[in-house]
Amino acid sequence: MHDPNCIFCKIVTGEIPSRKVFEDDLILAFHDINPITPVHLLMIPKAHLNSLSHAQESDAPALGRIMAVAGRLAREQGADDGFRLIVNTGRVGQQEVMHVHAHILGGKEPLGPMLPRRRA
Ligand code: 5GP
Ligand code: ZN
Repeated sequence: MHDPNCIFCKIVTGEIPSRKVFEDDLILAFHDINPITPVHLLMIPKAHLNSLSHAQESDAPALGRIMAVAGRLAREQGADDGFRLIVNTGRVGQQEVMHVHAHILGGKEPLGPMLPRRRA
């Protein structure tokens, strides 16, 4: 369930403090320690899962809960006119923390284009 070397598992157990905004039986949401937008939250399954590359059917309840709750949390935190939900995955996705997490990114202003319009 928890990986003792994983920083987000340590946030789940309380070993590392975080600014929590939501918690239930399956997921936890907290403020990113280094926000890149006025609203920057992280949502994680409580059970350790390296990345979306490794997700299985049994992870669907927690992953689904993240999608289902994201809009309400974004609104409550002030991103009340839209946001982005981003899951960086693996080497190509430049995932740094190897415990699946969805970034909620938002604020009052549009975020700008997410991707280059054409392939490099
Ligand atoms: P990634 O690049 O893996 O998608 O994003 C990892 C995110 O985790 C980064 O935005 C980083 O600021 C955040 N982060 C890393 N360590 C901690 C921590 O100990 N606490 C919190 N709240 N966020 C963290
Ligand atoms: Zn973990």
